[in-house]
Amino acid sequence: MPIYEYRCQRCGYRFEKLVRLAQADQPVVCPNCGADATERLLSAFSARTTGEAATTTCSTGGG
Ligand SMILES: [Zn+2]
Repeated sequence: MPIYEYRCQRCGYRFEKLVRLAQADQPVVCPNCGADATERLLSAFSARTTGEAATTTCSTGGG
């Protein structure tokens, strides 16, 4: 099941929610304030890395 990220337009609370295909069109209620004015954000799956060192960009100055 895909995990979608939502953000409440009322309080600005961001949360993730497992949404089934059948429930994709149903409105999501904000667990913080209870408002249904939530918008779905583009979830970035590549943001979570385990045991992976961040690549450091080393720029050598021409000189
Ligand atoms: Zn809210």
